[in-house]
Amino acid sequence: MTDTILVLNAGSSSVKFQLFEYSKELPRLLVGSVVGIGTKPILSIEREGTDKKLKIEIPVHETQKQGVQRIIDWIEDLKEGWVIKVVAHRFVHGGPEFFEPTFINAEVFHKLKAIIPLALLHQPHHLAAVSVIEKRLKNIPQIACFDTAFHAHHAAKFTNFAIPQEMTDKGVRRYGFHGLSYAWSAQYLKKHHPDLAKGRVVVAHLGNGSSLCAMHNCKSVDTTMGMTVLDGLPMGTRCGHIDAGAVFYMIRELKLSHSKVEEILYKESGLKGMSGISNDVKTLQESSDARAEYALDYFAHHTAKFIASMAASLGGIDALVFTGGIGENSVQMRESILGYLEFLKIPKVMIINANEERYMAEQALECMSKAHVAGHEPHKKSPAAKHKKPAAHSKKSA
Ligand code: ADP
Repeated sequence: MTDTILVLNAGSSSVKFQLFEYSKELPRLLVGSVVGIGTKPILSIEREGTDKKLKIEIPVHETQKQGVQRIIDWIEDLKEGWVIKVVAHRFVHGGPEFFEPTFINAEVFHKLKAIIPLALLHQPHHLAAVSVIEKRLKNIPQIACFDTAFHAHHAAKFTNFAIPQEMTDKGVRRYGFHGLSYAWSAQYLKKHHPDLAKGRVVVAHLGNGSSLCAMHNCKSVDTTMGMTVLDGLPMGTRCGHIDAGAVFYMIRELKLSHSKVEEILYKESGLKGMSGISNDVKTLQESSDARAEYALDYFAHHTAKFIASMAASLGGIDALVFTGGIGENSVQMRESILGYLEFLKIPKVMIINANEERYMAEQALECMSKAHVAGHEPHKKSPAAKHKKPAAHSKKSA
């Protein structure tokens, strides 16, 4: 029997997962996903270090919940003696309260449910995955790792919008996202480039969702995403920064419903909306259509503009790090962005391959060992248990 850590990332149209051995070096055993949920779901799993691969189409009505079930089924069917000891879930939003990895008990589950409106596309799926695991694997410890956590200690001028204080007090504020990716990059810098790690570094996480993080001494100082994952850089299907007045105009003058505007800005904008072709950078690079070229140039120039603004937040820049699918793989996009930044004379540019899953596995291991040392039994209060209203400032369980 081998104890393992399951890392789950249940998103808006996919469930990605990795299985690690529960040991200090965290050898990876499996990697896989269900992608295309809602359109053409495909389950694929690869066994690390072998050519064992599975790729099957699954029925279109199946959701993230069935995706998680299939993943567990598959792990069990392998009969490798792998015992899931803890599950780490990626949570896009931790709201104002959660800024460290947290064991999910009934009270935490309830609080995470209450912040669904802050991350409508993601949070319900994260929670659904927690419920499925609870049903299937009973009292197993589950840990939430938050994308907002890395940005939790920004100065007020980088957290607040320029709106009346009473609105800020009601929770209309910035959080920032992609924190698990930034934390991984910060950790990598500390390990491999300790001098740079102490300096002013802008990390560009460029994928379907994109943002920037301004770090000083590996701590987040500023970031481009705000209260939700819509703000900042233009993205695959999201608009990024937009004049709030334009949103009022669409509702008031163009007579679009709130939900239609939301759909346009989240799902029909960005590279997809500008090109009318695709949200995918690789596809656009391969196209000879002028609209594809325009969309890619827009993405590059606006990303450069925001990188300069992050440098302003840091009072200078010692290094620029590219990460994420586009940042790591698209030479053309990197060159284009850097072309617009020549004036900034960035001393060092590098690539760090994002590895949020391993970062989460490390966090899970650390939480489990801390809980063990403290004599906690994190699994005793299951997330599915009926929630009783918590005391005003109940302590997090991790
Ligand atoms: P997500 O935010 O969904 O995790 P990824 O980080 O996987 O997204 O990034 C997906 C993006 O990376 C897509 O636009 C894809 O086209 C782009 N990408 C991946 N590989 C390449 C490549 N070799 N050349 C150009 N773009 C690439």
